[in-house]
Amino acid sequence: MKTFQYFVDNTWHEPASGQYFDSENPANGEVWAQVPDCNLADVKRAVAAAKAAFYEGPWGMMMPAERGRVLRRMGDVISRHADRLGEIETRDNGKLVKNITPSLKPDAWQVDSFHYYAGMCDKFEGRLLPSEVPDMHNYLKWEPFGVCALILPWNSPIGTLIWKLAPCLAAGNTVVIKPSEQASCSSFELMEVLLEAGLPPGVLNVVSGFGATTGEPLIDHADVRMVSFTGGTAGGRAAATVAARQVKPIIMELGGKSPQIVLPDADLELAVNGVAAGIFPATGQSCISGSRLLVHRSLIGEFSERLVEVASKARVGDPTDPATQIGPIANRPHYDSVLARITAAEKAGHQLLLDGRSACRGQGYYIGPTIFANVPNAADLAQNETFGPVVSTEAWDHEEEVIRIANDTPYGLAAGIWSRDVTRAMRVADRIEAGTIYINNYFNAATQSPVGGFKQSGYGRENGFEGMRCYLQTKSVWLATKPTQPDPFAA
Ligand code: NAD
Repeated sequence: MKTFQYFVDNTWHEPASGQYFDSENPANGEVWAQVPDCNLADVKRAVAAAKAAFYEGPWGMMMPAERGRVLRRMGDVISRHADRLGEIETRDNGKLVKNITPSLKPDAWQVDSFHYYAGMCDKFEGRLLPSEVPDMHNYLKWEPFGVCALILPWNSPIGTLIWKLAPCLAAGNTVVIKPSEQASCSSFELMEVLLEAGLPPGVLNVVSGFGATTGEPLIDHADVRMVSFTGGTAGGRAAATVAARQVKPIIMELGGKSPQIVLPDADLELAVNGVAAGIFPATGQSCISGSRLLVHRSLIGEFSERLVEVASKARVGDPTDPATQIGPIANRPHYDSVLARITAAEKAGHQLLLDGRSACRGQGYYIGPTIFANVPNAADLAQNETFGPVVSTEAWDHEEEVIRIANDTPYGLAAGIWSRDVTRAMRVADRIEAGTIYINNYFNAATQSPVGGFKQSGYGRENGFEGMRCYLQTKSVWLATKPTQPDPFAA
């Protein structure tokens, strides 16, 4: 059994409460680690360290190019420890080791994020604006906020952290990280690894704990100047309410209920494989999973049969086994929630074409691909996020109808469109309210390509230029080149 401490000022600390909570391995249900239950006192310590590193320490005053060199080293040390980080991520939340470890290797996307933003540190140039005021220069600068709080979900702990950390640090901020209470361990392991990159103390800090007792005091702390939140829409709403007390900027990457739209001229094999790949891997626990399948009525019968055939072949099992294609649900509460939603959908009368509950075995939290047919868009299953390997299917007749159905949820994270007619696909894409649209593919992402939500899927963007822009604020400076100021009250 491993007991973690929390991380402040490059050192490890016991929580003020002396309390710890369990971390389970979802592949077998065994408790394998103890995680500090941090409270307000620990949050204060972490924020004080981050504040000192920003205002007094070298980070806030460091030249951008020098910050870039540190970020590059961070990417390099992560890639050197890819196996160790991948192993702990798998044990803590059930991600397939064959997916997570390669993503941390040299030149893979997680490491690439540090290298990409390392290069951007010294490329956010200010601007001199043409001025209508004589003898005046008006210039714009980009400035960091100071201490930023990074609040993480459990579904992709290392990936989400890196997507936030690299641009946030590149912008010159210092950070306090609050990982999910369901998957904290890889954040601590990442800090241990990053110590090798030579970051000054206080730049990176991690406090673990629960939303109400660790997350809220962190967001509410007056010295935290900006928040980046990834999680569910309910959690995001609660976090934004706390941030609003001090009119604190917050970016939010929230949930989704993304439609997969199959047009009548779709390449059937491509679309079936693409739809299956867009929902079932990661056990459906991806924010952009395409969980609402909208198929033209002319194809619905054959499409459903072929989807069941493809999904039935998936090998569900131990996430450390290279042969496994679908691992466990990441934790017990969420496993219970997904099972309950499948049962409720069945009771609501939706037709179950493939039942993943048969994949449940041993002590692990396994659920296989699950497919429901004839699910009206107003149904709970189609409206609310299940965040598991569960897809609901509905047939449609007209293009206007499918656009209306696709947009008819509170979410707007992603959408897939399958068609051989690119003009038609683009026409539909223009009408879909979502931050990312995939045409004849799904799930692609790149460091330079911004992702984020429309509607209740959030605001702000991660990745790309926009990803770093969110961690900077604009300052406008007026400089008099021939200062003159007549007495404003002269008689
Ligand atoms: P969650 O909202 O329950 O928790 C997310 C984080 O917020 C956790 O660290 C939690 O402790 C914290 N939190 C909860 N309430 C809080 C509060 N009142 N104040 C401060 N912090 C609080 O989400 P989850 O179940 O961990 O993650 C799954 C969700 O995340 C899914 O809805 C998924 O779609 C979403 N997600 C979105 C993206 C994206 O980029 N849009 C990426 C990954 C996951």
